[in-house]
Amino acid sequence: MMKILVSDPIHTEGIEILRKAGYEVHENFDLSKDQLKNIIKDYDAIIIRSKTKMTKEIIEAGINLKVIGRAGVGLDNVDKEFAETKGIKVINTPDVSTTSVAELVMGYIISIARHIPQATESLKKGEFEKEKFSGIELAGKTIGIIGTGRIGTAVAKRAKCFEMNVIGYDPYVKYSDTIKMVDFETLLKESDVITVHVPLTDITRHMISNDEIKKMKKGVILVNAARGGIIDEEAVKKGLEDETIGGIALDVFESEKPFRSVLTAYDNFVGTPHTGAQTEEAQKRAGIEVAKKVLEQLNKMKR
Ligand code: NAD
Repeated sequence: MMKILVSDPIHTEGIEILRKAGYEVHENFDLSKDQLKNIIKDYDAIIIRSKTKMTKEIIEAGINLKVIGRAGVGLDNVDKEFAETKGIKVINTPDVSTTSVAELVMGYIISIARHIPQATESLKKGEFEKEKFSGIELAGKTIGIIGTGRIGTAVAKRAKCFEMNVIGYDPYVKYSDTIKMVDFETLLKESDVITVHVPLTDITRHMISNDEIKKMKKGVILVNAARGGIIDEEAVKKGLEDETIGGIALDVFESEKPFRSVLTAYDNFVGTPHTGAQTEEAQKRAGIEVAKKVLEQLNKMKR
């Protein structure tokens, strides 16, 4: 009987799917590197999230391994290239968190526009400062979406419901039904809100830095729920101090483990600890989808 190791927790429905298909499934979390190296030879597939590190050494030890399934998007913890040279298929579930991240982004924008976190803090102190928390409406404002893939487009659809003008920049997308595509400069100059939804690459690292911030409208709201480092945090600090930037919302940071950010000290900072995909629905979807995709691969290899 083929064996599957689940080394980071996934939703129970995913586990059920694997067992019902007749596979022997072992859930074994918090394995040390050496423990994993010793047992991996017994398995045909491994399912991980972000914690388990599938390094060359571990992959080499997985002499029976056929599939590595990552529940979620990032493959930073998998040496995909090496795995593929060994004939091991690496799969992930990039679609499952789109709605969750897009909803979080809308939450950020409204939070900053209406000072919800700050007003809550103030109420908790027993204050009732109505004038201090005067905000702005989103209707009629322009949102600039950098990277108009899955999440960028999901944000665009939601922003339209708020009667915002939606513009976008993506060098690989010429036309979109939902978004008016513009060049990067136009997006920087015309947007009241700018949100980034690109992968972190050598090109996108610090794609929003001092020069770009200088071109933006005074009071712009910036959002990064993609990957830490796409927006330069030091440059945002300057922008907050000279009031070019009206608010910054981050789910992802240049330094997450250990967590450090120069921006948490600012009143108009709103943030979450990389919780974009942390919803019941996204986690369930990830567990089910990774299980189905791993089965599909194993079944192909059986034939
Ligand atoms: P996607 O691949 O569907 O879209 C990314 C888009 O970025 C593509 O359309 C691509 O053409 C565009 N792009 C690439 N380089 C660009 C550049 N230099 N300038 C402008 N556009 C560029 O990806 P997605 O599923 O929408 O995810 C977007 C981001 O969100 C990724 O960084 C992903 O890792 C991140 N994400 C974060 C969380 C979270 O927990 N916060 C969860 C899921 C995804």
